[in-house]
Amino acid sequence: MKVVAKKQQFAVIGLGRFGGSVCKELVKLGNEVLAIDSDEQKVNKYTNIATHAVVADATDEKVLASLGIRNFEKVIVAIGDNIQASILTTLLLKEIGVENVCVKAKNNYHHKVLEKIGADKVVHPETDMGKRIAQQLSDENVIDYIELSDEFSIVELFASAKLEGKSLVELDIRARFGITILAIKNGEEINVSPEPEYKIARGDLLIVIGHNDDIKRFEDQVM
Ligand code: ADP
Repeated sequence: MKVVAKKQQFAVIGLGRFGGSVCKELVKLGNEVLAIDSDEQKVNKYTNIATHAVVADATDEKVLASLGIRNFEKVIVAIGDNIQASILTTLLLKEIGVENVCVKAKNNYHHKVLEKIGADKVVHPETDMGKRIAQQLSDENVIDYIELSDEFSIVELFASAKLEGKSLVELDIRARFGITILAIKNGEEINVSPEPEYKIARGDLLIVIGHNDDIKRFEDQVM
């Protein structure tokens, strides 16, 4: 069964490289997106991409209210270097009552302030992407990974030829390594919570959750 995500209403404030890319992807995923930037040239680039694109200064409370920003389920604040504008915008959005505000932080101080004033999610795209790429480059088995904490991750690993034809019960991964296979992907097919009798096939991608040390042990010993 294919799960289709419900269409949601987003506003993206700041259409630099990060905000612009978030905006395009949200539209591609079928969402309604209001794109906002104080720079008219930036906005012009998004008139044919976003559902609506407006020139507005997001630090102006009246402007935000007139855009009906309160009615948006999620607002992304992607104001890059202007930390002051980013903080003020976030504060206003939370005061107006926007439920879910995701903000791009420039550094750790910025991050702390954003959390204090109620940002629901704070992201560091450059740092996060750098980590992700380093992980992928340093370990050829790793296709993708999500860091759950400093110690735990969800990792997508290509099953090596050595594993083909072996059943999960035979590999006994949970008992031996303390990690769990959440799902197995093969092309478009995804098998969630595979049965113990499942035999690993060519091209299988294992999605595993566990302690980073245990995942590494599994890769070293089994992959
Ligand atoms: P990135 O690092 O993601 O490329 P930029 O710093 O280039 O980020 O882009 C930030 C965007 O935010 C710019 O297009 C800028 O015009 C916009 N911006 C800055 N301040 C405001 C504001 N007060 N209201 C709306 N947009 C703003």
